[in-house]
Amino acid sequence: MKVIMLGAPGAGKGTQAKKIAAKYQVPHISTGDIFRANIKNGTELGKKAKTYMDQGLLVPDDLVVDLVVDRVNQEDCTKGYVLDGFPRTIPQAEALDKALNDLGQKVDYAINVEVPDENIIERMGGRRACVGCGATYHLVYAPTKKEGVCDTCGRELILRDDDKPETVTKRLNVYHEQTQPLIDYYTQAGILREVDGTVDIEDVFRAITLILGE
Ligand code: ADP
Ligand code: AMP
Repeated sequence: MKVIMLGAPGAGKGTQAKKIAAKYQVPHISTGDIFRANIKNGTELGKKAKTYMDQGLLVPDDLVVDLVVDRVNQEDCTKGYVLDGFPRTIPQAEALDKALNDLGQKVDYAINVEVPDENIIERMGGRRACVGCGATYHLVYAPTKKEGVCDTCGRELILRDDDKPETVTKRLNVYHEQTQPLIDYYTQAGILREVDGTVDIEDVFRAITLILGE
């Protein structure tokens, strides 16, 4: 099962992708997480990506595409995967289609998690990320057991730099300009499915399992 998660930044793609990965036993591949891990480890890729991420801009396609194509060709992806945060531009979608086509494969579903811009600002302001394992929480909607401490690894939680209000506005504009056209792209491909992302996390997931099957 090959699934793409679409939606604005903060729509809940990562939250749902983790649940899909756990239920259907496929890897969760988040390009944002891959870049953040590279930044943490001080790699060349991380240094390049950071200059764009800090400004709320997309990392250039040529830095993203090969990385994802390599990743989906790894052994653990033979049964499928859930892509979170990729593709984010039409050229990325075309490059993915081409790479899969060469292998005689295709994406099964592109799930668009719909959340209006007004809700996004609140979502991002309350999002907290673990400095250790990268797990994400929300102050109100997905709180940790102990305030400010990761449930999984016990490390400290922070507000991501790119979740600060001024950068969120920029990221939303970038989303509308560069990523939203993918909705038409996958509609035309006949694999777009929409879910209401404004309801509770478990209700969003229930809608997704109705699409993907039990
Ligand atoms: P994305 O991966 O699309 O950027 P996340 O999955 O990180 O978004 O979710 C953004 C924030 O909103 C997180 O703090 C998350 O806990 C919270 N969140 C996710 N889904 C919901 C939901 N259905 N209702 C309320 N809050 C949510
Ligand atoms: P995310 O965690 O998915 O919200 O991604 C955080 C940031 O990483 C984005 O704002 C972009 O700067 C960068 N990024 C992640 N995925 C991609 C992608 N597919 N293409 C370009 N930039 C990306």
